[in-house]
Amino acid sequence: MCGPRWGRAMTEALAPADLAVPIPDQALSITDQALHAAVTGPPGPAQRRAVAKAITLLESTRSDHRARADALLNALLPATGRSFRLGISGVPGVGKSTFIEALGLYLIERGHRVAVLAVDPSSSINGGSILGDKTRMERLSMDERAYIRPSPASGTLGGVAEKTREAMLVCEAAGHDIVIVETVGVGQSEIAVAGMADMFVLLQLPNAGDDLQAIKKGVMELADLVVINKADLGEAAATRARAQISSSLRLIASTGAHGLSHGQAAHAPGALPAWQPQVMQLSALKGSGLTEFWAAVGQFRALQTANGRLAARRHSQDQAWMDALIGAGLRQRFKAHPAVRAALPELNDAVHAGRVAPSVAARRLLDLFH
Ligand code: GDP
Repeated sequence: MCGPRWGRAMTEALAPADLAVPIPDQALSITDQALHAAVTGPPGPAQRRAVAKAITLLESTRSDHRARADALLNALLPATGRSFRLGISGVPGVGKSTFIEALGLYLIERGHRVAVLAVDPSSSINGGSILGDKTRMERLSMDERAYIRPSPASGTLGGVAEKTREAMLVCEAAGHDIVIVETVGVGQSEIAVAGMADMFVLLQLPNAGDDLQAIKKGVMELADLVVINKADLGEAAATRARAQISSSLRLIASTGAHGLSHGQAAHAPGALPAWQPQVMQLSALKGSGLTEFWAAVGQFRALQTANGRLAARRHSQDQAWMDALIGAGLRQRFKAHPAVRAALPELNDAVHAGRVAPSVAARRLLDLFH
């Protein structure tokens, strides 16, 4: 699996001779060394507090906090990358929290340490919270083998997703070997979560029409596994839904959409076959079907590890994450650039009035940005 590539130890080894552009070796303060030690230390209340503190630091928008957070993240990096990252989505009410709680309890009973993170798209729109209320997953959150963190509260969806990616690394450094990232079905947030998960699971209700929504939004093609929840409400409906979704997935596969959306096919290095998305039914409320679900996850993990696609997926996710941050950073700096700020209103007006072509205005502004 993809391990750390440029952790603190390695930056020290690489900088400055081996890297043309060395990563500044940001030393951790005494406080942050203690935080690092507590995060990577033995499980227990002290580690939980340290994980929460580290994530709060990463979520902070203060620039001095950001510098500390960057140093901490780099120091933690050698201890990351060893978990399995499971993305889970579905419309509100499909049973995500019921399912994640049941799965989490199932997994900790089997010796795993589970972290549950969330990307709540409503927080980027109105600071609201579809996913974040604390009463969810009560039993799991009380168990100290699990760590549950609500979605970062504000920012753009990209910003919320970025914080969640970083929080995932902290949880991994703390030894959580299964990291579940949950989101709710609104399209963009699923793409963000699929972009940070090893495996993306879509929860569906056993009624027709639900899958059409997912297909329309392009979510179905992100799914490695579709789970029809609430199968206890009616065996016939669940079986029908399973057949319908299976045929939708075959259609998606035949048009070549699946996999490309993950950057999988483009990087497929191995001769072994790729994973074919599957559909299964279960009841999160009754806890039935969890064993089969976890077996399917195990098969996925084994196959994608053997054929090299798991590592390739992480590699392209890292690349895409870095590219997205560079893009966002450039945009921010561009907008803050004094010459651009001075010229922008006038050029905007000129474009609106039809006096300057948008392309000409864009080139002029880019010329001002050095
Ligand atoms: P979320 O909004 O996707 O997180 O959905 P919840 O987990 O909060 O579940 C919504 C409702 O569906 C709750 O009343 C659950 O008790 C119920 N529910 C969840 N899973 C099942 C299931 O497998 N069977 C049945 N009958 N109800 C379920």
